[in-house]
Amino acid sequence: MSEKLVHILLVEDDEIDIKNVRRAFERNNIANPLYVAHDGQEALDMLRGDHDYPKLNPTPKIILLDLNMPRMGGIEFLEALRGDAKLKSLIVFVLTTSSDDKDKVGAFYHNVAGYIIKPIDFEVFLHAFTVLDTYWKLCELPD
Ligand SMILES: [Mg+2]
Repeated sequence: MSEKLVHILLVEDDEIDIKNVRRAFERNNIANPLYVAHDGQEALDMLRGDHDYPKLNPTPKIILLDLNMPRMGGIEFLEALRGDAKLKSLIVFVLTTSSDDKDKVGAFYHNVAGYIIKPIDFEVFLHAFTVLDTYWKLCELPD
């Protein structure tokens, strides 16, 4: 197992949800560097180094993606990501309040690794991050 911690990009417009993810990282002692983009377009700019954003280096291998966001939502972001030769292999987990079948089908069409409905209960939310942390510690990812 590699000692290097994989970098993670959270794409989320809701400040409370961003805070909850940071808290879940702290409470689970997750030390992976966490970056935040507030919509799909900002996430693409950060991954590509476009529009005066410094390119994230190393590229975050794991993306935690909200679906409902202004400017560019999650499904549109996935379309752009999977169509980008340099970014198409990144691992994406959807973290959303939407249990809409259309969203699930759209997300899995773009090869997401998982689709997680944001739990109302913070303890359940914490547990979701315990599982995610186990996943990215266990899996070998290419450099
Ligand atoms: Mg949202």
